[in-house]
Amino acid sequence: MQNEYGDPDVVERLARGIRDSLLRPVRLMEVCGTHTVSVFRHGIRSLLPPEITLVSGPGCPVCVTTQADLGAFMGLSAIPGAIAATFGDLLRVPGTQGSLMDARASGLDVRIVYSPSDAVTLARNNPDRPVVFFAVGFETTAPAVAAALKSARQSRIANFFIYPAMKLVPPALSALLGQNPSVDGLILPGHVCVILGTGPFHPLAQEFRLPMTVTGFEAADILLGIRDLVAMISHQRFSVTNSYLRAVSDNGNPVARALMNEVFTPAPARWRGLGEIPGSGLALHPEYSAFDAASAFHLRPGPEPDPGPCRCADILTARATPPDCPLFATACTPAHPHGPCMVSSEGTCAAFFRYQQRKR
Ligand code: SF4
Repeated sequence: MQNEYGDPDVVERLARGIRDSLLRPVRLMEVCGTHTVSVFRHGIRSLLPPEITLVSGPGCPVCVTTQADLGAFMGLSAIPGAIAATFGDLLRVPGTQGSLMDARASGLDVRIVYSPSDAVTLARNNPDRPVVFFAVGFETTAPAVAAALKSARQSRIANFFIYPAMKLVPPALSALLGQNPSVDGLILPGHVCVILGTGPFHPLAQEFRLPMTVTGFEAADILLGIRDLVAMISHQRFSVTNSYLRAVSDNGNPVARALMNEVFTPAPARWRGLGEIPGSGLALHPEYSAFDAASAFHLRPGPEPDPGPCRCADILTARATPPDCPLFATACTPAHPHGPCMVSSEGTCAAFFRYQQRKR
């Protein structure tokens, strides 16, 4: 069913407005993997003048998870009776010792779950076995993981653990912008902003003199955001606009943040493409430390291995696009992925591959 955000007249009017107000070539980053996919799905590039280049950022949680963290999680293979619970997107990501699918073939009991609370249920149903949830995600996922941990604690479920690999977006954007990725504006991650609000991004816009916008995921949403960015670039305004008012407020969701803060505390985290960033991860508060599988089972990430020819790290930091990778659509395809950007449903390589194939 057509809604107002996909109305062709509205979409065309917005696209025309962008074309008319563009004063110079610009390079805009869509930080979030869901936006990357939405840009393809709605054919946004075909509506924009060629002087606007869209590049991806570090907003696909599966893609920014390091091989070292994946390898550490797969250390569960050595724990008798362990059940490894994970979101399905992570199953085929190549790690230091193959993928979780390979580990499953070698005997690790890997179960796909659709939410952290599913993993708690798994633990409840298997009281004699440790169940470890691979907690990957951003501020969008962290409140659900926190709720699952609270429920496990209240129910005294002693065999539920998480491997904490969640990440926080604002410190990563600060680190990325500090590397001068030569972008003229950011489309901020809409779902993360539902939780955080626009508040944490205003200081970044000021510090890096970079316009930013929050948008939704429909065609008109994205074009509204791009229109805002083009206008701010033209007028040299470095602030944050919000055209996703139906979901994002200045203050976000304080209840979800309170839940996160009750269970987690900021910690350093390693990101694929960006390396270690202080305060960009979430560790468990001391009263929840018994749930930390990394401590309980000595699952320690080793050094990050050389990624070889895979350019995921460059794609996540706007230094390359998928066609720049020598393996793209040849040795690396969704059926035979060489990196997470080709595996994840939010991965840039997977989106390029899927929609280019469709075009052909
Ligand atoms: Fe990595 Fe494959 Fe993307 Fe190349 S095409 S960057 S190998 S995921």
